[in-house]
Parts: sequence; structure tokens; C-alpha cells
Amino acid sequence: MNIANLLLGSAREFRDRPAVARGGAVHLDYRGLWRRVSVMSMHLAVRFGLQRGDRVALAMTNGVEAIETMYAIWHAGMCAVPMNAKLHAREFAFILANSGAKLCIVTPDLATTIAEAAREAPELREIVDTSTRAYGFMAVGDPAGVAEVEPTEPAWLFYTSGTTGRPKGATLTHRNILAMTLNYFADVDRPPPGGSILHAAPISHGSGLWNFPLLTRGAVQVFPESGKYEVPETVALMNRWPECSLFLAPTMVKRLVEHPAAAELRPDALRLVSYGGAPMYVADLKRALDLLGPKLAQLYGQGESPMTITHLSREMHADRDHPRWEQRLASAGRPDSCVVVKVVDEDGRVLPVGEVGEIIVKGDTVMSGYWNDPEATARSLRDGWLWTGDVGAFDEEGLLTLKDRSKDMIISGGSNIYPREIEDVLALHPGVAEVSVIGRPHPEWGEEVVAFVVARDGAAPSPADLDRLCLDNIARFKRPKDYRFVAALPKNNYGKILKTELRQQLHENTSRGD
Ligand code: AMP
Repeated sequence: MNIANLLLGSAREFRDRPAVARGGAVHLDYRGLWRRVSVMSMHLAVRFGLQRGDRVALAMTNGVEAIETMYAIWHAGMCAVPMNAKLHAREFAFILANSGAKLCIVTPDLATTIAEAAREAPELREIVDTSTRAYGFMAVGDPAGVAEVEPTEPAWLFYTSGTTGRPKGATLTHRNILAMTLNYFADVDRPPPGGSILHAAPISHGSGLWNFPLLTRGAVQVFPESGKYEVPETVALMNRWPECSLFLAPTMVKRLVEHPAAAELRPDALRLVSYGGAPMYVADLKRALDLLGPKLAQLYGQGESPMTITHLSREMHADRDHPRWEQRLASAGRPDSCVVVKVVDEDGRVLPVGEVGEIIVKGDTVMSGYWNDPEATARSLRDGWLWTGDVGAFDEEGLLTLKDRSKDMIISGGSNIYPREIEDVLALHPGVAEVSVIGRPHPEWGEEVVAFVVARDGAAPSPADLDRLCLDNIARFKRPKDYRFVAALPKNNYGKILKTELRQQLHENTSRGD
């Protein structure tokens, strides 16, 4: 069982259909990609002397080379370590050392950073820059056959985006990835042959994981020429390629919807925007549905159970007449077909409908453990259950509503307050562009609620306006005691808001007496 066989199957079925494109231009068709990958895999084994199971890291901005490199690694029975291109040299160094990667393929923009990081990664023997002849030469020679691997062998070390602490490498096996791929067809979408997937988000994360189901359906994988997420380019590429599917973080969906270029999107261009990885506020989601039509699906997953825990289907998004439409939109949907999901108390006892507890997951998508980190593995995997660190509750329809990361929950006067609920309400204000709510230590109450607010250009929402909105929508004790108006919120490389940094800022301001 080797996920590289997915490409073999598609090469046989889809032959001269486009497989990979750079902007509007085809780079390789399916047979061409298969040949390129099989020759590159021969180089990995013969020229670089790597063996089955060896880790090969990728420090690459999104581009066609990243896809061919990943499949060459799997074809050779090795394990890919895709790293986010925007990491800091210290984070690259940590991942290179922790994974024990022997080879790292880099795009030229990252060559210097990786050379610096490599000093702290003793097992790294070689760095290959995709702009050099050393890389070009990897396309020359005889192809090798697909390596046989066991389903339990690691295919992808997915380093968690680390909104706290240092990253951990969720070890995803070939079985995990196949289960995720089948789950896409069961719960997310079954696209017709020959569509496209636009990698507008980094392929070291969700967009890269979705390459598998789309490749299986003979879609062309399109990489924006800019290597970035720019709305006009994204819209032009959606119009260019047929039946376009894409994975976007909620903040990216919001940027698309609010950009004037979105008006140029042809009605038939888009097949599906799947979004997830962070909360999407209902107000933003409704705007997206108005503009894009019923072409949105939500997924809730994490590196430890990639893209697969729950999903809110396209149909549920579209069913505006349903009496619970808004509650549905505020949820993360129902458990995916190939996993079991429970909400439990600290001792692992299942909680009744409506009660909030930690979300735990079991199934074929759940990682085998964290690479080289037995303590973290023992904390997260207990009796085969993945403890996600997310808290939420099921409702009577069997839909899961995520409250927050357990560590982001605020406890004030003995009551649990979930920041997301308050954020959802504040986001309703037309003058609010972004908002994040955290707890601040309070001598009497334990913690009190503080909201960081980014105003829209030209708007100036007042604390009194925001208070009124809260009083109209949620219990009085949840209302923020302090509003901090800021120009931007701190975010990590996947666009997730860093609440730890906000807490730190608040702590520093409090010590200075601001
Ligand atoms: P990562 O491992 O980087 O993909 O981050 C996974 C985390 O992102 C989860 O544990 C959740 O806290 C959060 N997350 C993922 N999907 C969603 C979603 N649909 N809604 C809210 N939060 C989400």
C-alpha cells in the first residue's frame, strides 16, 4: 500500500490530460508526471543513497516542483517532510533536526535560510536547490518502479502549525492518507474527472493534503505563478481552469469575498471552496455564500487526523430554509464517515448532548504518533483515541459545535466562557474587521474577558456599541471588560491568530501599567 500508486492509477487512466500547471500553462500531463516522478525517485535512491523510510524535507514556496518532489519521495518508499515556506530559520532547524531528514529540496528563495538552519541538523547531508542543474539532472535517467511499503509506514511528517510552543511532527502513514482520501469522496465531494485544484494555500498544509483526492480524479493541480495568495490572480485562474476546487483558510475566504476582483468570477468557474483550520464566523460565511453560491464545505481536522474529524456539507450550507440554518453554519458539522468522534470529560466519560467537553477521535486517519516525541504522543494518544485539545459539544442533530482550544477557554467567576461565542457576536458589527477574545487574570473573578478589535478602514466602533451588541446577544457576564483597538492581530504562517502573543502583550501592558 503506497500512496504513490494513486498517481500510477491516474497516469494509466488520464494519460495526456494535464496533471500540473504553472499559472495558465500546463507543466506536465499525467504520463509526464509519472515518468518524471519515477526518474526522480531513482535519483533519490541511487545518487543520494537514500533508503526506504528515510525522511526528505521540502522547504519550497508553492510550485510545480513541490508536487513532483513529494510523489518522487513516496514512489521511492521514503517519507516527505513538507515545511511551511514562511517559517523562521530556527523553526526550520528544529524540524530538520527533529525529523532527521537526510536531504532537503529547496526553492532558491529559501536556499540561504536552509543553509543556515542546516548547521543545527547533523543528519542533513545534502541540500538541492530547484533552480540548479543538480535538480534539473534529477529528471534525467531511467525510471524506478514504485517501492512496496506497509500501510503503517510513515508517508508525511506534518509539523503542527504550533500556535503554542514548538512544532510537533504528526506522523501520517500511507493508511492515514488513503483513509483521508476516501473520506473526501464520502463526505466532502466526488468531483467529475478532469477538473482542477488551485493551490492558493501552502501545500505543506490542507491544500497539499487535498491533492490526493483530486489527483485520483485526474484533476490538474494549478500553482499560482506568484507563489502567493493574491485574489485577482486566484480569480483569473479559477476562470481559466475547469471545475475548480480549492482549500482556503477562513481568513482567505474573507479576503476573496471582500475583494472587488471577486465580481469577475464566472458563475460556473468554481466547483468547491472547502475551508477550515480555524473558526469561520457566521457573518463572514453568509457573505461568502451570497457571493459564491452554495459551493462551500467546511472541514474540521488537525494535523493529527488530517482534514478528517467532522464536516459541514455543501447541502447544509445551501439549505437556507432549514429552521436551524444559522446554528448549522455555526457548527463544524457531523463526524466524518471513517472516524468515531466523542465529546468527553477529563476522565474520558462520554458527555450528554449539549454538554461541552474535549473532542476525541478514533479511526484510520489518526496519526501513529508524534515523530521523536514519545511524551507528547502519550499525552495525545490514549487507548487509540486522539485527544484533540479542542472543546465542543454535540447538538440534537448530531452536529458538533467547536467552542475553542481547551487552553483558550476563559474561566470567570467559576463560569466557563468560550471566546469564540463572543468573537462571533462582535464580528456582526459592520465596523469590525477582525476580533480576538482572551482572558486576563483578575484577582476576584479568576479571569476577565478582553477583546482585541481591528476596525474596518474608516470605521470606529465604540466600546459602547460593542457592549450593546453583546448585551443583545449573549449573557451579561460574557461581555468584554476591556476593548483594545489594534491595527492588526498577530498570526502564524497559516493565518491563525496567536492568542499566546495577545496574552503576552496584555501581560506586558499590565506590568507597565497601561
Ligand atoms: P492544524 O493541525 O494546524 O491543522 O490545526 C488544527 C486546529 O485548527 C484544530 O485542532 C482546531 O483547533 C482548529 N480547526 C481546524 N478546523 C477548524 C474548523 N473548521 N473550525 C474551527 N477550528 C478549526
